[in-house]
Amino acid sequence: AGMSSDYLEVRGLSVEFDGFKAVSDVDLTLLQGDLRFLIGPNGAGKTTIIDAITGLVPATGSVQKSGTELLGKKVHQIARQGVGRTFQTASVFEELTVLQNLDIAAGAGRSMWTMLRRRPAAVPEAIEEALETIGLADLRDRPAGVLAHGQKQWLEIGMLLVQDASVLLLDEPVAGMSHEEREETGALLRRIGAARTVVVVEHDMDFMRSYATSVTVLARGKVLAEGTVAEVQANPKVQEVYLGT
Ligand code: ADP
Repeated sequence: AGMSSDYLEVRGLSVEFDGFKAVSDVDLTLLQGDLRFLIGPNGAGKTTIIDAITGLVPATGSVQKSGTELLGKKVHQIARQGVGRTFQTASVFEELTVLQNLDIAAGAGRSMWTMLRRRPAAVPEAIEEALETIGLADLRDRPAGVLAHGQKQWLEIGMLLVQDASVLLLDEPVAGMSHEEREETGALLRRIGAARTVVVVEHDMDFMRSYATSVTVLARGKVLAEGTVAEVQANPKVQEVYLGT
């Protein structure tokens, strides 16, 4: 994060699995402040796009973050460029406290031992800020394993924040959440999204309508439509895809 405007530019992105084109020549331009939803039927290639951007699957084309090419870099190098992602199933350390989870994520340069011994007074500012942002400040000393489902997702987002991610790719962040948790997650995404770029893969259309600033609709690995919620909803090609499912 910084004062300068960040962007992620995806050009001609393609991913093949044994000759099957899961992602086919996808272009995406994501700017700071975007809360972009990626939607589309099952198997459209949404998760594979996130996997390709974060280096988990090999891809061709180009993915640039503020001018730096990410394609071909390793997962940790891409993370260090400020591109972070969550998975459909929250992956937090259940035995460790909320604070320790954030500490590990912030990690670089500190040993596990230093971290476990540290007095509460020494909590770094970035972690304190993340705790407030994700609404878990009062639960900092609880083991992550006792958190509610929604709180674990927020903790995972907090782990990206302390890593200083400026592009956050979230895979179905509200799946399995209660109505209240969804609303809180939407508010959280708006809070963090203003100075970052947030990409949300989502099936929940009500959630999308409430929070998306822009939408990309995928079908069979290709971009079918892109625009505001109203624009994509009015698009006959999009209606066709959704009536068919
Ligand atoms: P979505 O997230 O839109 O539901 P995915 O990106 O998960 O779609 O999958 C896109 C297509 O690629 C699907 O047909 C899926 O079966 C296929 N696919 C995804 N991952 C792999 C893999 N590791 N090996 C082979 N095929 C895969």
